[in-house]
Amino acid sequence: MQLFKDQHISIYNSLTGKKELFKPINDGHVGMYVCGPTVYSNVHLGNVRTFMSFDMIFRYLKHLGYKVRYVRNITDAGHLENDADAGEDKITKKARLEQIEPMEVVQRYTVDFHNILNTFNFLPPSIEPTATGHIIEQIELIKNIIDNGFAYEVNGSVYFDVHKFNESHEYGKLSKRKLEDLIHNTRELDGQSDKKNPQDFALWKKAEPQHIMRWPSPWGDGFPGWHLECTAMSTKYLGDRFDIHGGGMDLKFPHHECEIAQNEAAKGETPVNYWMHANMLELNGQRMSKTTGNTVNPDELLSGNNKFFSKAFAPSVIRFFIAQAHYRSVLDLTDDGLLASEKGFLRLMEAINLLDGLTASSASTIDLNAWKKACYDAMNDDFNSPILIAHLFEAVKFINQIKDGKATLTENDLKTLKDTINIFTFDVLGLENVSKTNSGTDKLSAAVDILIQLRQEARANKDFALSDKIRDELANSGIQLKDGKDGTTFSVN
Ligand code: AMP
Ligand code: ZN
Repeated sequence: MQLFKDQHISIYNSLTGKKELFKPINDGHVGMYVCGPTVYSNVHLGNVRTFMSFDMIFRYLKHLGYKVRYVRNITDAGHLENDADAGEDKITKKARLEQIEPMEVVQRYTVDFHNILNTFNFLPPSIEPTATGHIIEQIELIKNIIDNGFAYEVNGSVYFDVHKFNESHEYGKLSKRKLEDLIHNTRELDGQSDKKNPQDFALWKKAEPQHIMRWPSPWGDGFPGWHLECTAMSTKYLGDRFDIHGGGMDLKFPHHECEIAQNEAAKGETPVNYWMHANMLELNGQRMSKTTGNTVNPDELLSGNNKFFSKAFAPSVIRFFIAQAHYRSVLDLTDDGLLASEKGFLRLMEAINLLDGLTASSASTIDLNAWKKACYDAMNDDFNSPILIAHLFEAVKFINQIKDGKATLTENDLKTLKDTINIFTFDVLGLENVSKTNSGTDKLSAAVDILIQLRQEARANKDFALSDKIRDELANSGIQLKDGKDGTTFSVN
C-alpha cells in the first residue's frame, strides 16, 4: 500500500523545538535509531513506554508504505553507574554481585526484555545490534576523533575534549545548555579524574586488572564509553546522517548531546535530522526509575501481584492506556487510570466485534471519508495517538448507531470503516482483540470466580476442610486468593 505520497507527517524535532514536515533523506525509506536497554536488570514499565512509543511510530511509518530500517541496540557493556564517567560498569557490577559471568547477566536480561516485548505485541526492529559486537567500529571512531583533534589519551583512557570541540562547534545545542553554564554546574572530581575538564567524557576507559569486560585497543585493554556505542551502531547501519533518532527524554543530556558531538567530531557531519524524545512514565506522581526503586515491572502488573494496583491488567489494556497519552506528555500510571482504560478498551473491542454483523444500505448518513482523514491527520500530527483514539471512539458511536438502525453506510463505506478501524487499532496501535487474546484470561477469571463462590458456600456450611482445600489447591497452581473487606480477589503468580 503506497500511501506515504499522500500523507504529510510533521514531527516535533527536539533539536529545533518545532514541529517540522518530515522529509526522509531517501524518498520512501526511513532510517530510525532508538537507544535500547542496558541489560543489567529487568525492564520496568517506564522503559516499556518509551519503546512502545517508537514501536507505534515504526508501525505507522510502515503502514504508510515507507521501507523502514529500525535499529534498536542492546547496551551490553560500557554504561557506567554515573554520568560523570565514575562508578562501575552496570553489567560488571551486577555480575560481581551475583557471582556470574557478565555475559550471563546480559543473556538473562536480554531474554527477559524480548519476552516482555512479545507479551506487549511489539514488532521486532530490523536490526538489534549489541555494543560488544561493535568494538572495532568504536575503536575506529575514536581514532578519527583523535586524528581530528577532538580527543586525547591519558593513562590508557581516551576522553572527548568538549572545550576544544565547542570552539568550532556547538556543544549543548540539543539540550539547550551552554558550556559556560555546565562549567559552573559541574562539580570538580576531587582530582580523581584524568580528564582535562570535568565536562569531557570518556570514549574509551582503561580496564583495571580486575575488570572482566575488556578488549584490546591501541590505548591498551579497556572498554568503550556508552555514548560512543550508539554513534558506532547507528551510523554503521543507517549512514553518517540518518532520519530519526529516538529515546527517552532523560537521554537528551548527556547521552544524545555526546552522540551529536562525537559524530560531528569524527565525520564532520551532524548525525540526525529529527531527534525525538518520549516523555517519562510516572508511578503515582513520581518518575518511574530503577535508581529510586519507584517501579513496577510488567509481569507484576500483568499478574496483579503488586502493592499498587487493585487487579491484574491485560497487555493490550496497558498498551491502550499508554497510547491514550501523547508520547511527549508525562503519563502517570494509576489504578484509576488503568481501570478507565480497561473500560474504554473493552468498549472499543466490543464495537469492533460487531463490525462483521453490520449490514450495508443504499446510502450513507455518515461522512466516512472525513472521519478516515481525521484518523490520518491525528497520526500525521506528530503521532497524536490520543486524538486518534478519540476518533476511534467516534467510530464506536457510528457502529452502535448502525446496529440500532439510527445510521446507515453503503457497502463501500462499511468496508472503509472496517478497514480503517482495523488498521489503526491493530496494525498501528498494536492492540490485540479481546476475543483473541483475552479469552484465556477471561475464562480463567470466570473459573476462579466459581471456585471463590464454592469456597464461600463451604465456609457458610462450616466445611472448613473444603474451603481450605480450595484455597490451598489454587495456591499450588499459582493462584493466590486474597480475602479483603470487599470480598475475595485473586492474583496469578
Ligand atoms: P535504560 O535501560 O535505563 O538505558 O533505559 C531504556 C530506555 O527507557 C531509555 O530510552 C530511557 O530513556 C527510558 N526510560 C527510563 N525511565 C523511563 C520512564 N520512567 N519513563 C519512560 N521512559 C523511561
Ligand atoms: Zn544511545
